[in-house]
Amino acid sequence: MSSPYASESLLQFNTFYNVVNGKLTESSSGQTYHNTNPSTLQANPEVPLSAQEDVDAAVNAAQVAAGHWAETPWAERKKKLQDFATALESQTENFSKMLVKENGKPLFWARIEVQSCIKWVREICELSLPDNIIEDTEQRRVVERYTPLGVAVGIVPWNFPLMLSFFKIPAALLTGNVFILKPSPFTPYCCLKVAELGLRFFPPGVLQAISGDDRLGPWVTEHPGVDKVAFTGSVATGKKILQTCSASMKRVTLEMGGNDPAIICADVDIAAIVPKVAMISFVNSGQLCMAVKRLYVHESIYDAFLAAMVEFVEGSFKVGDGFAENSFIGPITHRAQFDRVTELLDHIKESEFKIATKDSVDTSQQGFFISPMILDNPPDDSRPVVDEPFGPILPLLKWSEQSDVIQRANDTEYGLGASVWSKDMAQANQIASKLKAGSVWINTHGELEPHVAFGCHKSSGFGVECGVEGLKAYCNIQSVYSRPS
Ligand code: NAD
Repeated sequence: MSSPYASESLLQFNTFYNVVNGKLTESSSGQTYHNTNPSTLQANPEVPLSAQEDVDAAVNAAQVAAGHWAETPWAERKKKLQDFATALESQTENFSKMLVKENGKPLFWARIEVQSCIKWVREICELSLPDNIIEDTEQRRVVERYTPLGVAVGIVPWNFPLMLSFFKIPAALLTGNVFILKPSPFTPYCCLKVAELGLRFFPPGVLQAISGDDRLGPWVTEHPGVDKVAFTGSVATGKKILQTCSASMKRVTLEMGGNDPAIICADVDIAAIVPKVAMISFVNSGQLCMAVKRLYVHESIYDAFLAAMVEFVEGSFKVGDGFAENSFIGPITHRAQFDRVTELLDHIKESEFKIATKDSVDTSQQGFFISPMILDNPPDDSRPVVDEPFGPILPLLKWSEQSDVIQRANDTEYGLGASVWSKDMAQANQIASKLKAGSVWINTHGELEPHVAFGCHKSSGFGVECGVEGLKAYCNIQSVYSRPS
């Protein structure tokens, strides 16, 4: 394979390889596969269909690299990550366009995703994990310090393939771990290119990526040479990973599904907040773990709020090809997810829940397009309220008593995010303090920062990404006791 190191030159987005041991490699079986652009159903390029031997090769190279990368000074690792971010920045446009082709999201949103990755590297690099001096006397010095775990694997989903990789890569590498990225089979393209770009900055084996089908995840999580698995995806898969990793005592971080409630109080300015709530409900076609998925609106403003939401969503959110100008919502990312969402739409129609918006599936275009659907007060135990639709379907639900709406908001196996919207900050804080979720927002929803812990309650997760706690998730803590001889 040709050398990817040479220069500041732009990466080519027409050929895709695994990145193993400092080289661009094909699958050892020689097999490839491809996905389609969900807007046009045109084929994207071939990517490696990796075999178990490719996993072995990547883990072996990672184990060799782990020793010297852990010994590389923090400042040097930080500098390499910062240079990597600068290189990614210079290639924003090509990454964004590839992201549109593999995921479907509009180019405007794809650019934001790439820019967020750059921000994440830069701001994670500003964090530090200094030794904790617990005791320093003539008799004894006691220090807690953080040591890297070794070989970390990142398993990511298809909805934000780049962003969710960058929740992991900078934290793992900065703390002295080496990292193997395993993208979703549905969105391997940008992830492989991230590791290819990394070849220009990191020694062989430090940042690798391999693509493949459903067998690849279990191969990496079962591999005895892997020390840590950082996973983002569904609860069902997360449970399997936890079980697999328990056999070899691998460290695990799990960021999983959500069914975020938003509670709208009676005193809100409807016109001011409807665009914000609608945006976080339908961005990325609702394929966002922390999208608002249940909207509880106080009964005194329910009808006006529902009317304003429908008017805003139907008037402002153009659904279309990610490359078309003014598209705000792209297609569902792949056929299997499109089938899941359309099955739920059929169930909604059969169940005769009240639908406040116009028809949802757009058959006039080739791709997997579904327009936003707003449901008018379906039952609390109905599927669109209980399940995570992961599509553009939003139930509006009426509430009257504060204690009751808090109980309903918490009545879910999920605990990713939740929000309260009110002009009365005392009331908002009182409600917020009772919500069982990793992130709680007041008069906003979905804000995240690289230097702030991102964690989950209940089945939504296990452990933390981002912030200093996210760095600690890639480390062993070691307590060193020393006495004068
Ligand atoms: P998924 O669980 O099907 O797949 C996620 C990843 O796990 C993919 O890379 C997949 O190949 C891999 N995988 C599948 N089976 C595996 C196994 N047995 N062992 C190891 N790896 C395996 O999820 P998805 O459909 O790609 O993503 C959608 C889900 O992700 C939703 O539930 C969404 O809420 C969740 N999500 C959570 C967050 C978060 O930060 N909490 C962010 C984005 C998405």
